[in-house]
This record gives sequence, structure tokens and C-alpha cells, in this order.
Amino acid sequence: MKIAILPGDGIGVEIVAQAERVLQCLDLCFETEIALVGGAAYAAHGHPLPEATLQLARAADAVLFGAVGDPRYDAIERALRPEQAILGLRKHLQLFANLRPALCHAPLTHASSLRPELVSGLDLLIIRELTGDVYFGQPRGRRTAPDGAFPGAEEGFDTMRYARPEIERIAHVAFQAARQRSRRVTSVDKANVLETFQFWRDVVTEVHAQYPDVELNHMYVDNAAMQLVKAPKQFDVIVTGNLFGDILSDEAAMLTGSIGMLPSASLDAAGKGLYEPSHGSAPDIAGRSIANPLATILSLAMMLRFSLHQEEAADRVEAAVQQALAAGLRTPDIWSEGTRRVGTVEMGDAVVAALTTSASFNG
Ligand code: NAD
Repeated sequence: MKIAILPGDGIGVEIVAQAERVLQCLDLCFETEIALVGGAAYAAHGHPLPEATLQLARAADAVLFGAVGDPRYDAIERALRPEQAILGLRKHLQLFANLRPALCHAPLTHASSLRPELVSGLDLLIIRELTGDVYFGQPRGRRTAPDGAFPGAEEGFDTMRYARPEIERIAHVAFQAARQRSRRVTSVDKANVLETFQFWRDVVTEVHAQYPDVELNHMYVDNAAMQLVKAPKQFDVIVTGNLFGDILSDEAAMLTGSIGMLPSASLDAAGKGLYEPSHGSAPDIAGRSIANPLATILSLAMMLRFSLHQEEAADRVEAAVQQALAAGLRTPDIWSEGTRRVGTVEMGDAVVAALTTSASFNG
């Protein structure tokens, strides 16, 4: 099997290097190939998602992705900005289901901005629809307003839309995921205001008829945002659209202490996936070797589990991460009094060491 490795920009390069080390010490038989993406690809080839990178991602069984985004290219034409690479990969590979687990690791309970009793034992899964909604809806752009409150004025506009099959397939992913967990799904929408999300609610309710063993409830997104910081443990699986999922998953990230801890998987209908940390390229800390590599290493574990069917190796990687945390090692984003502050490479060293010890123990 082949893994495409796309580190991207900023801290992407630093954190993916640690995940690669972890992959190598698992002693599994995978071919890997690395390619440029994002700002790095734009600088070298004039496009954030060169054809060769896209072909590699298409041909691979799974993609390990770092992050894209570089402030040097913030002012260039939108189609050529680094972030277009990840949107392009999601679209071309039809990665419609984004799975973002938010797990509060026991040693990090105090790193959360919420009180420990609210987050200890937290284990929720946000399933975000990834290839539809206002992010991809056409038409969009700038124009002279044809009507509205200020006809004739310059305006920006986007289109929010969801087709029935798009909602059906993400609802199936959510109900099936819930069957592996506590069998509870919360569908988050804005059905009270938006036609698109009244339709979403109706279709999710229809699909639910096929999953009588799973409990479904609906929640408006504004309430969901509030409930996530008020009583996050009430949730098991949250399913929502692209825009709401983008915002709620970052909110959920903070419950767990740091966005640097949150992995994600983006899957197509056949289970092929792109695996990436939930955060961006963090230009504010790039190049200083202080970024937390654990979200990327945990994304690798998700890759092993979902696309490469290496359940045992996935368990080992997750256990090694727990061991590094239990040993008191912390990158600055999760550091607290009484723990040892380490950099990106040292955290990678600790995970690799835990894996090597477990391998020789098993051997
Ligand atoms: P960001 O996630 O890059 O950073 C937000 C904050 O979290 C920053 O303070 C950063 O230092 C911190 N942070 C993020 N990851 C961390 C880690 N592993 N360890 C420690 N701290 C970490 O979001 P942003 O600042 O809004 O965006 C920066 C760039 O990334 C932008 O160009 C944006 O478009 C891009 N972006 C890319 C993706 C992606 O590639 N999928 C996702 C989000 C943002």
C-alpha cells in the first residue's frame, strides 16, 4: 500500500516529520512518497495543488497531510492561495466525511479552559460534511447588488445548498459511527432560519428510520455552541454541515486543551482517506520547533485504523502518545505547572521511544 505524504507549509513540515518517524518505527510494509502542497508548491511550481501532487494523492491508498497557509501569499489571487490546495484535495478525492474526535486525555484535563469536572472523560466525535454547503455552493463572488437592503451597492455573496444524496451519505456515516460508540447522534442545524438546514433536518430524520437502535436529537447551531462549553459530555456523535462543523470542531478542540491534540480523518465513500491535524500552519510559531506534533501522530493512528486496516498498530501509536503524556512531557500549548516543557522533536522522540519499548516488550 502507498501513503502520500504532503507536509505543506509552516509547522506542517515540522509535525509531519515526527509522524513519519513514528510510521517508520512501526516496521510495517508501506511505500511512502512525499510531495509539495500549499504555499511550498506555489513557490516551486506556481500552483498550490500541482497536477503531480494531485495524481500522487489519487493513486495513494491514504494521504498524510500537514497544513497549508502562508501569510506571504495572503494577498494573491484566491485560486492560487495555499488554502485552495486542501479544498481542492477534498473536492477531487470526494472526501465528504470529516471525522474529528475530541478526546480529553486524562493527563491534560487541566490544560482545558473549562473546569476539569466538565471535561474529564470527554469523548465526542464531530462528523462534519466536507464537500458541500456554502464553501462550495455556486454562484458566489462580488457584484452590484440586484436587490436587498442596498440595491446597486457592491456586495459579496455565497450560496448555501445541500442536495439530498449529500445529506443522506453523511447521515449514514454518523449513524454507523454511533453504532461503534454510545449510539447517540445530535444533528446540528439552523432549521429555524435556513431553508437548507430545514431540508437537512428532514433528510437526517428520514435516514434515521434505518437506525432504530440509535438515538437522534436535533439542535440549533447557536445552542450547540453554547452546550459545547456548558456541558460537553452530553454529546456522543455530532453531525453537521461544512460551515457549522468548521466552527464547532475548533470550539471542541479547546475543550481538550489544545488544537495541537486534535486529529482528523476525511473519508470518501470507499474509506480512502486524507488524515491531518485539525489545526492550520500556525505561522506564529512556525520554524521554532515548539509545535505540538501529537495531533498529526494521532491522525496517523486514524489512518492506520480506517484506511490501512492496521488496528493493532493504531492502538500502539495511541498508547505511545498516552505514555509520553503520562511521563509529563508537554509542548508549550499544553504545558502546565509541574510538567516538563519540550519541543516538537523531543515529543516525537518520546512517542518513538514508547513504541520501541513496547515492541521489544512484545517481542
Ligand atoms: P492555526 O490552527 O494555524 O493556529 C491557531 C492557533 O493555534 C495559533 O496560535 C497557533 O500557534 C496554535 N496552534 C495550531 N496548531 C498548533 C500546534 N500543533 N501546536 C501548538 N500550537 C498550535 O489557525 P490560523 O492561525 O487561523 O491559520 C494559520 C494559517 O493556517 C492560515 O493561513 C489558515 O488559512 C491556515 N489553515 C489551514 C488549515 C489546513 O491546512 N487544513 C486549517 C486551518 C487554517
